[in-house]
Amino acid sequence: MTVEIVSIGTELLLGQIVDTNAAWLSARLAEIGVGVYRRTTVGDNRERIIGALQEALARADGVITIGGLGPTDDDLTREAIAAVLHEPLVLDENEAARLRAFFAARGRDANERQLRQALRPISALPIPNPNGTAPGLYAERDGKPIVAMPGPPNEFQPMATDHVLPRLAARTGGRVIRSRVLRLCGIGESDAEAQLHDLIASENPTLAPLAKLGEVHFRITARADSPEQAEQMIATMEREVRARLGASIFGADDTTLEQAVVQSLIAAGQSLVVAESCTGGLLANRITNVPGSSEVFLGGVVSYSNALKESLLGVPAETLAQYGAVSEPTARAMAEGVRQRLGGWWGVGITGIAGSGGGSPEKPVGLVYIGVSDPDTTVVKRQLFAGDRQTIKYRATQYALWLLYKGVQAGGCGSLSRL
Ligand code: AMP
Ligand code: MG
Repeated sequence: MTVEIVSIGTELLLGQIVDTNAAWLSARLAEIGVGVYRRTTVGDNRERIIGALQEALARADGVITIGGLGPTDDDLTREAIAAVLHEPLVLDENEAARLRAFFAARGRDANERQLRQALRPISALPIPNPNGTAPGLYAERDGKPIVAMPGPPNEFQPMATDHVLPRLAARTGGRVIRSRVLRLCGIGESDAEAQLHDLIASENPTLAPLAKLGEVHFRITARADSPEQAEQMIATMEREVRARLGASIFGADDTTLEQAVVQSLIAAGQSLVVAESCTGGLLANRITNVPGSSEVFLGGVVSYSNALKESLLGVPAETLAQYGAVSEPTARAMAEGVRQRLGGWWGVGITGIAGSGGGSPEKPVGLVYIGVSDPDTTVVKRQLFAGDRQTIKYRATQYALWLLYKGVQAGGCGSLSRL
């Protein structure tokens, strides 16, 4: 099955907003095996919307529109769909009642403009929108679905996930869709893909890579006749992925790397202290974003200047003079110093050059040393990160969290020298 996506909104054509909805929807459709061969963007113009719908229906097995369902004069999607169906618009009494109740609850009357959102082509069905006022629409012409969804992403995504994608999946075989995201760190997207090549070609369940900043995600999506069957298919695929890349997986679905670190520290009963230079507290910030981190995170030091590296962490003046602030010995002394002075099981020290200035041929922008220290050993890793200042700071904290995660899993940081 193929569908085309028609994004509707003059603001899209003016470049005022980016069509994130279409990108998101394309990815979801690919997962359920629905092909998208063409996407169109049209402004808020009735004739051009009609034209785009007709062209899409001539080529594909269905069309999905995004936007233009609201209460204002430039919201023309429902009129255009009615024209394509050669049908009149009628008021959907259930949706009208819902809108009246919605406004009554806010001490207002639903005016005529608002009630226009309850209009539908006579053969179309409204799609519930629990997150906004405009329902979606589901119609068919010559057996081809015409689906309309509202533009605000917080309304669009749940509607697509809960109503539209399952319906399209049913047409392609399989009544339910389940998916699971595996999150990887410490491996590049292309390396990971190379090891999963045959699995990425699978059609059901699908396995789709997605590169994120400092990590790689693989989304497994299964279509099946029952939730149990879908879960079983996902579990089988997950086992296969873990057999190949398990050492790089830190979590699933919404689990962040900082959550995984905090959870494993709690499980191990070990505490953490950090000493940050170029990341300026970002590592501590990310860790303290995790609820429950107070159980294991004692605190940290932002030692930006050499003077504070010496006075607060005990980094020897000779080390700084001989090797510089951005060096393996300084990162080591920071990690060990913060452990000793603040009294944690784990100590992390980060020092580097975030840019945009300050680089040299020997020590370029993006050079970061990360030390991880436990009661027995200290390991320092040298990394060269690409990107602007913020990106380098983020990548440095990501790598530090990854080292910590692997260290805690292995029961000590000795194993990190092999990473
Ligand atoms: P509309 O449903 O056309 O009234 O759009 C309402 C709002 O949804 C717009 O102002 C945008 O903020 C957002 N929006 C509409 N279309 C898209 C899209 N394709 N991608 C992302 N956001 C969108
Ligand atoms: Mg609009």
